[in-house]
Amino acid sequence: MSSPADAQTGTTTEGAPAKLAPKDYRGRLKPVWCPGCGNYGVLNALVQALSDLEIDPDNLALISGIGCSSRLPGFVQGYGFHGVHGRALPVAIGAKLGNPRLTVLVVGGDGDGLSIGAGHFPHAARRNIDITYMMLDNRIYGLTKGQTSPTTPAGFGTKSSPRGVVESPMNPAGLALCYGATFVARGYSAHMPQLRSLIVEAIRHPGFSLLQVLSPCVTFGKGSGYDFFNERVQPLPEDYPADDPAQALVHSIDLQTIRTGVLYRGKKPEFVEVMRGIGGARGRELDDTAPAIDTEALVRRFS
Ligand code: SF4
Ligand code: MG
Repeated sequence: MSSPADAQTGTTTEGAPAKLAPKDYRGRLKPVWCPGCGNYGVLNALVQALSDLEIDPDNLALISGIGCSSRLPGFVQGYGFHGVHGRALPVAIGAKLGNPRLTVLVVGGDGDGLSIGAGHFPHAARRNIDITYMMLDNRIYGLTKGQTSPTTPAGFGTKSSPRGVVESPMNPAGLALCYGATFVARGYSAHMPQLRSLIVEAIRHPGFSLLQVLSPCVTFGKGSGYDFFNERVQPLPEDYPADDPAQALVHSIDLQTIRTGVLYRGKKPEFVEVMRGIGGARGRELDDTAPAIDTEALVRRFS
């Protein structure tokens, strides 16, 4: 678990907090990913987006599961929780319910989110709680050295499927649409300006946001590296409306042209707001005027 205690939150001459630069959102730990890993592009886009949104690191929680991409919270200035394989979403939902003022980001890979954690994804989406789920999709299990993951394309050879994968790959963006997510987008780690703006939009969206990020594994994902994506990735057309889930589904399942951008943006009551409306003890607990949770006492209690 990391905390933002050393965030460089200076002040302007007028006393207002100074806007933090992208570099100020970098954690003290240096990334340990392989040179060329797509996750570097995601980290760069993320710190730029956090700066664009002027998010206070003291109000930022990054929750992850297990895997190469799940190391990301350690490299960002904010509260981080590197959890159990596949369980990032329930931890993140708990954090948001505990303190609705937090900006809660969930980071994990395709294996973490679609295999071990697959049961949590639909329920987080249909609940429409205001968290942002960045699924870094490298189409392989990278940390455990190259086994087939739920998004490995059929026919690709991997360490666990040396004669080629037989099953059809899962489609995170298409699943999110079917699960009722109100914001579904796809980005590519090598297209950082677009990814930066997608992260900004996903965080701003008042509800559950799924951002699938194509993030090549240069060490084990040879069949779906930068060359593979560079040939196929294209942004959605400029006049694409993004308000029709049926059109979004058609684009999400196209395997020849892999579309990036906001596939769908919809409206539905947000979970915490609904709970507040229901009232009672739970509703009061979710009141913004309630005193903030003493996170340091919590850390002391569980450490
Ligand atoms: Fe990135 Fe793959 Fe290396 Fe993991 S094994 S750090 S996903 S390149
Ligand atoms: Mg993976």
